[in-house]
Amino acid sequence: METHLADFIRGTVDGNEAEAILRRCVHCGFCTATCPTYQLLGDELDSPRGRIYLIKEVLEGAPATASTRLHLDRCLTCRNCETTCPSGVEYGRLVDIGRRVVEERATEPRPLAERLERLALREGLTRRWLFDPAMKIGRKVRPLLPAALATKVPGTKHEKQKTLKLDRHARKMLMLAGCVQPAMAPQINDATVRVLDAIGIETIVARKVGCCGAIRHHLSDHDGALKDVKRNIDAWWPHLEAGAEGIVMNASGCGAMLKEYGHLLRNDPDYAVKAERISALTLDVSEVLAPFTDYLVAKLGAPSTRRVAWHPPCTLQHGQQIRGPVEAMLTAAGVDVKLCAESHLCCGSAGTYSVLQPELATALRDRKLTQLAALQPDAIVSANIGCITHLQSGTQMPVLHWIELIAGALPRGGPRHGLFPGEAKQAPRVHKGPGPKPIPDPQRPL
Ligand code: SF4
Ligand code: SF4
Repeated sequence: METHLADFIRGTVDGNEAEAILRRCVHCGFCTATCPTYQLLGDELDSPRGRIYLIKEVLEGAPATASTRLHLDRCLTCRNCETTCPSGVEYGRLVDIGRRVVEERATEPRPLAERLERLALREGLTRRWLFDPAMKIGRKVRPLLPAALATKVPGTKHEKQKTLKLDRHARKMLMLAGCVQPAMAPQINDATVRVLDAIGIETIVARKVGCCGAIRHHLSDHDGALKDVKRNIDAWWPHLEAGAEGIVMNASGCGAMLKEYGHLLRNDPDYAVKAERISALTLDVSEVLAPFTDYLVAKLGAPSTRRVAWHPPCTLQHGQQIRGPVEAMLTAAGVDVKLCAESHLCCGSAGTYSVLQPELATALRDRKLTQLAALQPDAIVSANIGCITHLQSGTQMPVLHWIELIAGALPRGGPRHGLFPGEAKQAPRVHKGPGPKPIPDPQRPL
């Protein structure tokens, strides 16, 4: 696509990147077929190709109107269009630049209520000392909350296993606890720790690590997001130098963000090398476990859930281009795993999208739940806290993280030690296959 950038952005880092991306788009429109908002609304301006035009116009000097901003706001950043595009257009990076420019050059400010809502999300979700007590209060007053808000508060409180006692292992990985996950679904981190322990990896949750930066980044607070990113790098770096092998992620939205750290800080002389290294060392938990499948499965009992509908989050299948390892692990563990029709489509969660665009988010959620229910599963499983809570808000069927199923099939006493006080230790099973293999990381040592 021929592009003539306006003076305000020509020759800048963002300008050069946007121009290179725009030039790759050949207007073919293949991407419209897999865009959830285009499928719902049928408006070209709510398709990837239409949004690319809008961004191009603004970068060429056209006014950034409220209508331009609305069409960009309606984008889920699901990056389904990137998977579909035959020309390799990096839409996700382009829309980040487009949103930033539209925010800065808007011909009219956002309405006050919208600004306050975005501020509350930015500051409230990213601070555990604010979010954790808010969630506790939310649970207590859930019946009194308006329906739209009540669906965001999980009804069941899963107590964190305070008595979890695990072995020390020579092999260690850092784990991002997340900013909302510990309050909304602490059992996911517990399950991850237990499963990694079973394959001989100790998890470390580093002090001073907070939000991965995705919430601020997607709300166009780019400076705030970079502060989050740098704080995390500073907190993780000493552990990596001391031998931690990488960062394991159980929320695919955060994982996709960590894999962008290198790109986001590529021009920062103090952080570029470290950020690139962090991105390279970030692995989704399914990637960590894949080489251990036989070893791990030999330790598992029968899974409690026999048939599951697997909902792959967009941040896993499109953002990180990871497809297959979760299904392979669950299948090996004896679970009947099914993908629903339109499994490539977003469920409508998309970070803060379900709060900011509730009508579209609900329409996508209900469409997804209909497709998932058609499989007649015992449960729905996914890999991202946002998708899990969003889907759960529309169904009575249990919606879990898939790692909970694996952890649930581990012998509760653990193979060599008691996980919980008072439980009898179980005799280890004899594993005849090969032992754990190294995590695939060609770049070690640091
Ligand atoms: S599929 Fe790719 S090249 Fe075609 S219109 Fe969409 S973004 Fe442009
Ligand atoms: S990121 Fe998703 S919602 Fe946005 S344009 Fe691409 S396919 Fe459509």
